[in-house]
Amino acid sequence: MAPAAVIVDHERITALCGWNEMPAGVELCDFGDLVLLPGLVDSHVHINEPGRTEWEGFETATQAAAAGGVTTLVDMPLNCVPETINVPALEAKRLAAQANAWVDWAAWGGVVRGSADSLPSLVQAGVPGFKCFLIHSGIDGFAWVDETDLRAALEKLRGTGLPLLAHAEVAGPVGAATQALDRMSADWRKYSTYLRSRPDAAEIEAIALLIGLAEEFQTPIHIVHLSSTQALPLLKDARERGVPVTVETCAHYLWFESAKIPDGATQYKCAPPIRDVANREALWNALNEGLIEMVITDHSPCPPEMKRREEQRWDLAWGGIASLGLALPVLWTGMKQRGIAMERIAEWMAAAPARLAGMSGRKGAIAVGADADFAVFDPDARWTVTTSDLRFRHKISPYLGAELQGRVLETWLRGAPVFRAGSHIGEARGKEQVRS
Ligand SMILES: [Zn+2]
Repeated sequence: MAPAAVIVDHERITALCGWNEMPAGVELCDFGDLVLLPGLVDSHVHINEPGRTEWEGFETATQAAAAGGVTTLVDMPLNCVPETINVPALEAKRLAAQANAWVDWAAWGGVVRGSADSLPSLVQAGVPGFKCFLIHSGIDGFAWVDETDLRAALEKLRGTGLPLLAHAEVAGPVGAATQALDRMSADWRKYSTYLRSRPDAAEIEAIALLIGLAEEFQTPIHIVHLSSTQALPLLKDARERGVPVTVETCAHYLWFESAKIPDGATQYKCAPPIRDVANREALWNALNEGLIEMVITDHSPCPPEMKRREEQRWDLAWGGIASLGLALPVLWTGMKQRGIAMERIAEWMAAAPARLAGMSGRKGAIAVGADADFAVFDPDARWTVTTSDLRFRHKISPYLGAELQGRVLETWLRGAPVFRAGSHIGEARGKEQVRS
């Protein structure tokens, strides 16, 4: 790569030029041989505030993001109280974020049973899109939707260009598998029991339904946290037919494998579950081929006691993996092992999620006119994850002990550093990115 300079003025990138073409009189920051990446965009994070700030919160989540080179978060609508399913709830979230956000953020609206009529006002209020569940979400106040609800929601979204994000597992196969396991008195401390309770069929059935609806309504549907690669042929076929369906996977599905998850280690619990090593490698292939467009964290923490670690019961523990701030080195380590070029990170972890959240041109790219958000990355640093590297509220994560390559040394938000050499700098000046 030729040495290049990024010219920044008033929070924005105003020019890109060669090292020798720099205008006179500019203040220079020389990052040497380090990699300058666009500030990452994580379009799938559970911040839990307001209402469950003891689970996470704007301050801790955005500090964890800043420490990991992430400059924009998009919050999921379900774990906060009130759930972000109408404008007053969105206003409560805006109030909670004020002076607490260290990086920029936005909030997905929620679609729950019978809430379709609230969608247009949330669109007006500037949410970038909506999230729904096709199975119990874990939160009673965020009711899952069936096909009738989905149709009502898509009717409202048609023509807005806003995507409907869906947790793509249906209840039928999960319920049947769970009952069968209970009948045979399966041991719920074993990871294999939990894995069998969330079969591939639940994802496949949900994705087939969602593809059909995206095609019928010609309205974008986004599959969040794809785990089962058995659904990939459906997605490939839909893509070839021009159906407006996009898909993400999580860093943890690309890193862990089921055979190595210890029994009782509920810090690994997420839904859909982490599957076997062949599935993991097939996810990497799909990502490499462009069928999966982006990688997000689905950072979803909870208070330690909710992981039920004394009982070690997978069925009772809260599902959600805490990882915000680690995704970049996790992904880069995996990419190095598979011979994938660094450039792909900018698409998978910045440009593509920015596009999903309606922020193209402003976020997720080093381009003239975009916000001057950067991650300064040392691709060669080797380190082992310890609790002091976890910047989110509760220091629990399946990545503890992971040996990683690559480290974020600095993070810049709109033209100035917010994180450098292990410390946060200045004050919380993150702003909501309202869709215009
Ligand atoms: Zn999630």
